[in-house]
Formats: sequence, structure tokens, C-alpha cells
Amino acid sequence: MSRVYNFSAGPAVLPEEVLKEAADEMLDYRGCGMSVMEMSHRSKVFEGIIQDAEADLRSILSIPQNYKVLFLQGGAHLQFAMIPMNLMKNKVADYIVTGQWAKKAYQEAQIFGKANKIASSEDKTFSYIPDCSDLPISPDADYVYICENNTIYGTKFKTLPNTKGKTLVSDVSSCFLSEPMDVTKYGLVYGGVQKNIGPAGVVIVIIREDLITEDTLPGTPTMLKYKTHADANSLYNTPPAYGIYICGKVFKWIQKFGGLEAMKKHNEEKAKILYDFLDESELFKGTVRKEDRSLMNVPFITGNEELDAKFVKESKAAGFENLKGHRSVGGMRASIYNAMPIEGVKALVEFMKKFEVENK
Ligand SMILES: *Cc1c(COP(=O)(O)O)cnc(C)c1O
Repeated sequence: MSRVYNFSAGPAVLPEEVLKEAADEMLDYRGCGMSVMEMSHRSKVFEGIIQDAEADLRSILSIPQNYKVLFLQGGAHLQFAMIPMNLMKNKVADYIVTGQWAKKAYQEAQIFGKANKIASSEDKTFSYIPDCSDLPISPDADYVYICENNTIYGTKFKTLPNTKGKTLVSDVSSCFLSEPMDVTKYGLVYGGVQKNIGPAGVVIVIIREDLITEDTLPGTPTMLKYKTHADANSLYNTPPAYGIYICGKVFKWIQKFGGLEAMKKHNEEKAKILYDFLDESELFKGTVRKEDRSLMNVPFITGNEELDAKFVKESKAAGFENLKGHRSVGGMRASIYNAMPIEGVKALVEFMKKFEVENK
């Protein structure tokens, strides 16, 4: 067996320890004589798995009692629709568009009501986070929406926008559990887990209880009401059971790691190695304004498309996978999520140095 350094933006690297444990339990989960994949979601055993997962997530993030944790399906994309369907009481919402995911959410919301783009960084290919300290928030906005870490462009909100009292809704798919987060600052925060927490197929929604109501937009299907899932503790229908089980293992791994303060330190250390190199390199350049740089997704270029392609090809041959940038922006991108070991980043920088010398 040989594992590569996997810099994929998602689905992405998971802790080896978690994968090994899952492998050990594959045929017989703790004496049940069956895999978690094979068991009833109504069984006592699975109830234990989902309850432990929720309890551990609550403890990691210090989620207050007046917030529900929901394990849902449909990826981040379904939240682009569920959020307006459930929260747009006045049919007005403000969107801060800092990349492709925020833009897609903004466009989806237009199906349901008046979505206002109150700020954007599209003028400079989403390479920065706009100043959000005094935006023209709509007086009747039901919420203000952000994508907190922009997976494709590699920017991150370092301070949350001033929503002037409006509910903040945030997509944290690609920075979930990478550092501490104050849940009380949000009305709703959600993320697809395939970036930093588990296998594709699960999306976690953390929502303040007063936002969970029967009063959804007319025509909202039962499956797309937060209330349906909140009332049933995420067991309204068959949940993505195996995915939730792996998420639970990753939560335990984070706790063993020392929690989110320790994780932040680990992620800052990794990102610094890569950004410091990009800042001194004569060949490679980062593409993001320094103060807005993401700890998780690091896009970079050589400025020459042929050389970029050569780098991607040679890095792959050397055991560094998925360094090609998103198809919409080109260049390269190294995603260095929680489970990427520091050795992986160090090895990548060594390889980049060698490539630079050979291609000057
Ligand atoms: C990957 C990603 C999405 C899309 O996720 P799906 O699960 O494929 O719908 C949305 N937002 C962010 C920030 C992402 O990184």
C-alpha cells in the first residue's frame, strides 16, 4: 500500500487513523456482526453513532443549546435553495458575492425572492474580500449571506461582515472545523463535509432554533423544511448513515488532536510554509491579496500556462496529487485541509524549489 499526498479541494484527504479504524470495523462493527453500512438507521447502535457524533461536534464548537445540529443530504448546493425556502419570510435577502459558490447561492435565491448583491469582488477575479464594515444592508432583508472560505479562489473572511443586526448565514464547507468559530454570531452555518470532515453525501447545518418554523415559502417540500429534520433529530428518513459514522470518527480525531485551537495552530503552521515560499519564489506567485489568504486553499501560478501544465504533470509523477487549479481559474491550487500532514506541505515546497531551479 502506498498513499500519495492528496491536495484535492474536495472530496479530500481524511485522517489515516480514521480510515484505518473504519477498515477494522468494516465487516463487524464492535461485535454487531455487520457493517455500519448494513444496519438499520433505527437501531440502538446507529442511534448511538449519530448521538455521539452530534455531542462531539457540539463540544468541539461549543454549540449553544438553542442551536440545532442537522445531518442532511443534497450537498451544499441544496442549501442554496433550502436557505431561502425556509428563511425568506420577507422574500428579501442580501448576498456578498466573493466567489463561485456565493454566486451560485445568490443566483439560486433569485428563484424564491429578491436577492440583492450588496458587495462583490468579481472585479478582480475574486482575489480579495471586500470591505464589509458598512454595507447597504436592506432594511427588510431576512438574512445576509456569505461564503466564508472561498475554495476556488483561496480567500477567507478574517472578520465577519457587519450585518447591522440581520441574521448572518454562512457557507463554511471548506473551512469547517479548521479553527475555532463563534456559532452565536450566526443564525445558520452549514457545510458539505467532503472538504474537511468526511465523505461526500453529508451536509451539516447548525441553525438557531427561532429560525426553524412552519412558516416556509409556499410549495416547500416536506424534505426541504428544516423543521422536518429538526423534529426528527435528523432521522426523518434514512440519513447518510455511513457518512455520519465517518464524520463522528473525525470529530473524535479532532478532540484527540487538542480541539480547534490546536487545529488552527497546525493549519497556520502549514499555510505559512507554503505562503512564505510563494512570497520569496521568483517563479511561483500566490494569486490572493495577502490579508485575505485562506488557510485551507492556496492557489498559485507561474504566469506561464505551459509551465503550469508541466508543473502539474511532474508533481503528479512525484506523488503530489490534485494540484491542478479549478477549471474556471487554471494555474495550481494546493488544498491543505486538517488531515494534510505538515510533512506533505514541506515535501511540496521542496518539490517546488527543485522545479524552480530546473525551469528558470
Ligand atoms: C465544494 C463547495 C460547495 C459545493 O458543494 P456540493 O456538496 O458539491 O454541493 C459549496 N460551497 C463551498 C464553499 C464549497 O467548497
